[in-house]
Amino acid sequence: MPIIEKVAWDFAGDEDIAYRFPNLSLKYGSQVIVKENQWAVFFRDGKSYDVFGPGRHTITSNNIPLLTGALKALRIIGDIFECEVIFVSNSQFKGKFGGQAYSAPSGNIQYQAELGYYGYLLYKVEDPKLFVIEFFGNKGASTSTDIENYIRGFINERVIDEFANHDIFNVVKNVDETTDKVSLIIKDEAARIGLKIIDTVFEGVKIPEEARRFSTTMGQQAMTMQYMKETTSELPEGGGAAGAGVGAGIGIAMGNALGQAMQPSKGGGSPQQVVLCPNCGSQNNLGAKFCGNCGKSLAPAAKIICPKCGAAMPETMKFCGNCGSPMKPEKIKCPKCKAENLSTNKFCGSCGNKLQ
Ligand SMILES: [Zn+2]
Ligand SMILES: [Zn+2]
Ligand SMILES: [Zn+2]
Repeated sequence: MPIIEKVAWDFAGDEDIAYRFPNLSLKYGSQVIVKENQWAVFFRDGKSYDVFGPGRHTITSNNIPLLTGALKALRIIGDIFECEVIFVSNSQFKGKFGGQAYSAPSGNIQYQAELGYYGYLLYKVEDPKLFVIEFFGNKGASTSTDIENYIRGFINERVIDEFANHDIFNVVKNVDETTDKVSLIIKDEAARIGLKIIDTVFEGVKIPEEARRFSTTMGQQAMTMQYMKETTSELPEGGGAAGAGVGAGIGIAMGNALGQAMQPSKGGGSPQQVVLCPNCGSQNNLGAKFCGNCGKSLAPAAKIICPKCGAAMPETMKFCGNCGSPMKPEKIKCPKCKAENLSTNKFCGSCGNKLQ
């Protein structure tokens, strides 16, 4: 391979966030020219080493001490060496996002609303070395488009995850709070991959008309009644009594929880033992499997171990609460465009196709 005397990313377009020069044969004495809004990161075997800021740099063992050390450790000694140089833009970028999410089932009936959302994000690279490790080392990106796609998939995942924590009443009442919370989560997580989020703007959250009606008090009562009518026939023996409960304003619950909630709560002589629901805080009889108020399971959540840092997390967590890496990081292929995605992605990062 010819020895490169001069490396420069002088063909960068406005939309380009990074460019990888693969397999360069460089020598001490080669020049690296970094424009005003760029960094150049020396990269080899999936690791990033020294970073050059703007300017005209002549490579010496002094100004790339980290890579020189790595080469020595590999017994690559002499003036000529191979590595990659990844140029990273320091400019601000704008990325659009959007998709569909579901609300959590609401308190006492299992109604989930499908929500649409869209908006844009302003971001820039803050830590070029971290950014290069994450995108070119860990995620195998090779172009700006790969990175854009990843960022879009990443935002969509967080938005979908966050909406899944709020029932439709909360979403309608607190759209701004919910989207503000998502923005904060995105900001924190982006920092871990070397990005700085300047702003996350939700331009719209579309709530279906049915869900809006449902979330008004009258609508809620009407839908609860309707829902109860439809499901009473499926309930275990004695569940029919629930019909009366609705009108009387008694909290109702679905399935097994119903039977338990409706049972007389006063026992013999011993004081009653209760267990608090971890979700809504109401008191339930000891031994109840589901909360009589919100229907959530009262069993302790099963734990799974983070594959990266080993922390034990509830099995419902998609990302480790300790280190932030996906709890199940297998790759799956998008059936539509064949791009590789993390199995935790709900939408393909490349074509936006629904994966789950
Ligand atoms: Zn509860
Ligand atoms: Zn972890
Ligand atoms: Zn796809």
